[in-house]
Amino acid sequence: MPTRFPQHSDKTVLILYTGGTIGMREGPHGLAPAGDFAARLDRMLATLPAERRRALPDIEVISYATPVDSSSVTPLDWQTLADDIRPRCARHAGIVVVHGTDTLSWTSASLSLQLRRPGCPVIVTGAMAPLEAPNSDALENLEGALRFAALPPPVRLDDVAIYFAGRLLRGSRATKWHASAADAFTSPGTPPLGDYHDGPRLLAESAVAAHEPDATTRALLDRTPTNYRRINQGEIVRIVLWPGMAAWQLSAWLEDSRVEGALLQLWGAGNIADDPALIEVLERAVAQGKLIVAVSQCLYGSVSPGTYAAGHALARAGVLPGGDMPPEAAFAKLAHLVAMPLDSATRRQAFITPWVGESGAD
Ligand code: ASP
Repeated sequence: MPTRFPQHSDKTVLILYTGGTIGMREGPHGLAPAGDFAARLDRMLATLPAERRRALPDIEVISYATPVDSSSVTPLDWQTLADDIRPRCARHAGIVVVHGTDTLSWTSASLSLQLRRPGCPVIVTGAMAPLEAPNSDALENLEGALRFAALPPPVRLDDVAIYFAGRLLRGSRATKWHASAADAFTSPGTPPLGDYHDGPRLLAESAVAAHEPDATTRALLDRTPTNYRRINQGEIVRIVLWPGMAAWQLSAWLEDSRVEGALLQLWGAGNIADDPALIEVLERAVAQGKLIVAVSQCLYGSVSPGTYAAGHALARAGVLPGGDMPPEAAFAKLAHLVAMPLDSATRRQAFITPWVGESGAD
């Protein structure tokens, strides 16, 4: 049974404004990131009907000094955001991260994996049109995100989720699938955690019962973020297979000593061209201690390496299957693992173990 929560917590909700279309203004060369977000948001919230305004929690806003178009966000920004959220969860009912939509699902996947049970709801949102644009989705997305972030304990998210166009999606399972539609995000492998009809509604038990990894992985993850390395120098690459890909092309990526991990996006259920030279490149990279993992190019379904002989060779080469993780989560998990001071065997084991429901059935 869906549960409806009309109340909100007495604590404030903290908004972390990073940039994105939602806060952009028209400039000489098109939309560009803009500041003054707190005051602009105040003005827009004041336009809501009184009843909807009353249902909102009190908010505080922290704006990053330079708001960015999210196409410029890097894994280093993911780490900074997680560091900024970690100590603040205890002081706030919840946290809303305002972000551009282009890489919103990458940031939310990384935050899910880094923060793992953050201690308060962390809701990532943005909009397809600026706050002040006519018929913008910005205000409704912010309202929903604030309401989900303000749900009082004991029944509230202890997780990272995306709120967009009336739906709450698991932060580690979402992907941007439309370049212009209002409901630009979907979570292919898993149903929405909640929806919004006059108020926030959690739809699944799993929305409040956070996923827990096994004890060994938990012990490992609890060691972070001590000795956590900053990742921003191209340590991880993403390679989407294409027809006719040559071994020299693959090796141009993987043989570079700066590359420590690679996400391969294979054909269908986990297939690659029947070319021993490609497999050799992968074998060499794995032997050098690089973490090479694979997900599918398809939006739905999972890689199962044994289905085709060519795919089977990948498993023998030491390529790890990422199940039905979206590329965002697989890439963010790689980045997180490379940032941690771990030996190769531990890294490999940790990759194939789910941490926050980023793969497998809900
Ligand atoms: N380019 C923008 C960004 O990602 C798109 C958006 O926010 O919708 O920052």
